[in-house]
Amino acid sequence: MVSNRLPFTAERRPPPEGVRFRRSPGGLVAALEPALAQRGGVWVGWTGAAREDGDAVAGAPPPPAEHVQYRAVPLTAHEIALYYAGFANRTIWPLFHYFVGQTQIDSATWRAYERVNERFAQVAAEASDDEALVWVHDYQLLRVPHHLRRLAPRRRIAFFLHIPFPAADVLRVLPWSRDLIQGMLAADLVGVHIPSYADHVLTCAERLLGCEVDRAAGLVRFEGREVSVEAHPISIDVAEVERLAERVTPGAVDAAAAPDAPVAEILGVDRLDYTKGIHERLLAVERLLERHPGLRRRITFTQVMVPSRERVAEYGELKREIDETVGRINGRFSERGWSPIRYLVRSLPPAELVALYRQADVALVTPLRDGMNLVAKEYVAAQLDDDGVLILSEMAGAADELQEALLVNPFDVDEVADALHRALQMPRDERRARMSALRHRVRANDVRAWVDRFLDASERAGLRARSTVASPADALQRMLAPWLARRATVALFLDYDGTLTPIAARPEDAQLSDAARQTLDQAARTPNLDIVIVSGRALADVQQRVGVPGLTYVGNHGFEIEGPGISFRHPELERWRAALEAAASELEALAASGATIERKGASVAVHVRTVPEGERRRLERQAEAVLRRRRLRVTPGKGLVEGRPPVPWDKGHAVLHVLVHRHGADWPSRVSAVYIGDDRTDEDAFRSLEGIGRSIRVGPSPGGASYADYRLPDPEAVLVLLRWFASGAFAGAKS
Ligand code: UDP
Repeated sequence: MVSNRLPFTAERRPPPEGVRFRRSPGGLVAALEPALAQRGGVWVGWTGAAREDGDAVAGAPPPPAEHVQYRAVPLTAHEIALYYAGFANRTIWPLFHYFVGQTQIDSATWRAYERVNERFAQVAAEASDDEALVWVHDYQLLRVPHHLRRLAPRRRIAFFLHIPFPAADVLRVLPWSRDLIQGMLAADLVGVHIPSYADHVLTCAERLLGCEVDRAAGLVRFEGREVSVEAHPISIDVAEVERLAERVTPGAVDAAAAPDAPVAEILGVDRLDYTKGIHERLLAVERLLERHPGLRRRITFTQVMVPSRERVAEYGELKREIDETVGRINGRFSERGWSPIRYLVRSLPPAELVALYRQADVALVTPLRDGMNLVAKEYVAAQLDDDGVLILSEMAGAADELQEALLVNPFDVDEVADALHRALQMPRDERRARMSALRHRVRANDVRAWVDRFLDASERAGLRARSTVASPADALQRMLAPWLARRATVALFLDYDGTLTPIAARPEDAQLSDAARQTLDQAARTPNLDIVIVSGRALADVQQRVGVPGLTYVGNHGFEIEGPGISFRHPELERWRAALEAAASELEALAASGATIERKGASVAVHVRTVPEGERRRLERQAEAVLRRRRLRVTPGKGLVEGRPPVPWDKGHAVLHVLVHRHGADWPSRVSAVYIGDDRTDEDAFRSLEGIGRSIRVGPSPGGASYADYRLPDPEAVLVLLRWFASGAFAGAKS
């Protein structure tokens, strides 16, 4: 189990007791722990104490319980401020709840989030083996599956999001939206509360990552795996709520029966949060009393508000606003011996809370947006005599299951006031009909059943992800086909190292396979298919390595181009030849430490793959210094450092040069340009083709960021796609 917090809170006690661990309250922990203990497992999370508190005990995890061990992820106060109070609670939380205007965009908090997620993944990887199922929880840890998959590719990973997942148009506001979806999709199973959130995940995968999606099956094809996306609405510990409710005498009030009957109780219970709609709800109570003076003295609205996230500034402001509104409404309507609003700002123990549920005639649960809302389900579970009315926001995930509630739009103060009035007037038979249906549904999906179902689904998803021989190239081909069909000709640009051949330790060892050469040979003869090989190698080198006539070859990152009808050398090359030569001679000194110097005419490369790992960074820095002194442009690559003339020319410029030269300036109306590459230098080409062509990145991109539209895992998959092009199966070739 991996969650932001361990299921305990450390409390400092006077000596000799020291630190005591108090189990976190709530049905979720009560359901997860036994499930974990039953299988024997580890819970990974933060203890709640900052690392530098100097209190070693508070930072240490609690001792193991039977069959469950706890592993702490140490965090500094600074990390907590950036990762938790910052990115999790000021960026993801508001955005995922559709508070776009309140969403903070800050790259420093994002970087901290990424770092901390990586650390959680490391601890989780160390604490598990390939037999284990790792269940990652919630919005603080969206990137953990990604890092865990990297560290432990065969781990079974399930992820559950406890908050809403927003629509694609909202998510894309975030500069790191793609990273977050990629983060989750590294799991075998992505669980959310309700089908509409699952739909949003699928749409985001499709639209923001270019993944192929099977909506009916709830599957995303991502990096060669099939990821299941499923709705699993969470629930509560029904038996526990019922046990506590048994001990309470219900408030038998029927406001409809007798016009001057005593007080009817209306109840709201929330954590202090702007998503909960507490302010709007108070205005609805005010509207009710305005419109129906006869209800004055006869109703009381109790609002329990649990302080939360005091580290986040917005919450203090909100608290002041709510305090003021409560004061204003009470000031306006209170009479001797009666105030309309009873306002409890604290957390109540479960027994007291359930007593309030049991005694309330109406529960007013009106969040502006809520992943699920457990208060609604707890209120229902506590109505042992099937009486009581639930007024529920349509914007809460719970509304999906609790359709017999009075559903309201929480932004519409009039509608909520009307619903309150209707609830207070509701005939007993209607109340019982609605509540018994609700209670039946809540009882049928207890939180333990939820845990079991999610674990079963994780097993299934893990098996499927492992057994599918997913062919990512097939999926990509299906996605590209409709776009290719719009134009007669395809121009296919292929990088060499890492794309057509696997990366080799020494550049001279990267040989093209016979299979790839045969396919290129066939492709060269396919009508309406224009193949261009693009490389950072010297032109003559790449021509000789591929050795297929009739193709266009781009060498030296675009400084040299040769092909049918094209022969290009960048005009600035001559001016820089001397500097390149001089730098290369100076760099030869690094060969003594194991580096290989590659003189490519228009550029020079220092390969450090053959150098022991601890030495590489130093050699790279030395090489960079030499190149800079010669005023050359330094570009880092995969295990190498390169110097080239400092002119604005790269693979992107070269690709456009070929297209314009061969097909005319208006090529986009006639030619579908596709670029496949694996390296940082290919990103220039991806970027040039953004929106006018399609690009495919091979293998992972460090940090996850890429301009590419699609991905393929390795050169093998590239070959599968290349075969499809060479066969002429794309529409243009047939016409
Ligand atoms: N709760 C509590 N003490 C209180 C008030 C609420 O323990 O004084 C619990 C409540 O029983 C419920 C949870 O807090 O289980 C709130 O869950 P919900 O899904 O409604 O909202 P969240 O706070 O998770 O956004």
